[in-house]
Amino acid sequence: MRAAGQETRRARPLQERLLAWFRAHKADLPWRRTQDPYAIWVSEIMLQQTQVATVIPYYARFLKTFPTVKALAAASDHQLLKLWQGLGYYRRAMNLRAAAREVVAKHGGRVPDNPQTFASLPGIGRYTCAAVQSIAFGRRLAILDGNAIRVFTRWFAIAKDVTRGAVQRELWHIAESLIAKTPSSGHIGARYAAPLQEAGWHGHPTLGGRAVSFLATRTATHRRVAVPPSSRARTATQRRVAVPPLPANHPGDWNQAIMELGREVCTPRSPRCPACPVRTLCLSRRRGIQDRLPVKRKKKPVPHIEVGAGIVWRRGRVLLCKRRADAMLGGLWEFPGGKRRRGETLPACIRRELREECDLGVTVGERLVDVTHTYSHLKVTLRCYHCRADPGRVRLIGCDDARWVRPNEIAQYPLPTADVRILEALGAGRARRRMRNTRSPSAPR
Ligand code: SF4
Repeated sequence: MRAAGQETRRARPLQERLLAWFRAHKADLPWRRTQDPYAIWVSEIMLQQTQVATVIPYYARFLKTFPTVKALAAASDHQLLKLWQGLGYYRRAMNLRAAAREVVAKHGGRVPDNPQTFASLPGIGRYTCAAVQSIAFGRRLAILDGNAIRVFTRWFAIAKDVTRGAVQRELWHIAESLIAKTPSSGHIGARYAAPLQEAGWHGHPTLGGRAVSFLATRTATHRRVAVPPSSRARTATQRRVAVPPLPANHPGDWNQAIMELGREVCTPRSPRCPACPVRTLCLSRRRGIQDRLPVKRKKKPVPHIEVGAGIVWRRGRVLLCKRRADAMLGGLWEFPGGKRRRGETLPACIRRELREECDLGVTVGERLVDVTHTYSHLKVTLRCYHCRADPGRVRLIGCDDARWVRPNEIAQYPLPTADVRILEALGAGRARRRMRNTRSPSAPR
């Protein structure tokens, strides 16, 4: 008769191997050196849609400037967006501060350790709630992001379009089953019995003839629903093959291990299967289809728009406009302008946009630079011209604020990445002019 311990070890190969690999090989990241829920929360917000290497310096600067929830709650738009400049998706920063203000106002500045309360804060979606609550407070909440989707579809050889709602629900269910406290939620055993057996998974010893623990599942809002065990509910297949409970009491490690595997080993292109700690349990690798997963519907090409932008001069200063708070890149400052209409020349576009945005007439001069920037849903080419402002006051029509700024002070304002590149071109152009002027005494602009 085998010892129960041996059975248990056989029953848990995937969880044990992945956790052991993570604990031995995990990257030394700044947010892994802290238990401060606020710092973990900041890291999770910054890591949304953003590479780890990009986030590291931003994270350090951010926490140095705003070391506590209270400090962040007191931040001005200007401070906040300047620190976030270049990280993109600026709505994240504004939501983070709004959430910090709510935490100070309603929770005494302590990050709520209740998932439902935390999920009610601005900018906290299902994934972020689960990631922060599992890492900071050890809550058993499943995550599903791009990395986890890739890993799960490959482990279980799920060759279905992962952009479909039904497949997303299936993947959430897998994620929840793998992190559950109780052995298996049933579905995963039934649906993936054959693949799991093919991949070498073993039955769980607690799922024998004796009554199983309560089957557990979670709703989309994390409400735990307990279902009493029933012999009818358990098919023979489910009794033979079931996902065992997560062995270690570290759901945060489990979630991070999945993310890390997806980021470092099970990469989108050319997964490094020979180095993978769970390669022998990976069904897609056995079938040789890992490079074709996950299956995704082809994205439509993003639209490409052309924007006319003015470097508008008046008495040695340049006009900067603050984008409306509710607009894309809201709260950031920019060189004013807007989308070119069909059949419109760029100078005409800039004159019209300046009128519409701040009721200012301009004379359009020489072209400075073209800058192309791609957002997740849009590609923009900014065509920038020097302009001279006509007399008259600026009125705030299509922007929240406007200022005449000395060129050497523009960098103090939070700017979108495309405008930073325009500023660099402006600086380079002014430097070239200064060089020329030292050789010939023609009048500078
Ligand atoms: S074996 Fe390959 S495809 Fe499977 S999880 Fe590991 S890296 Fe991914």
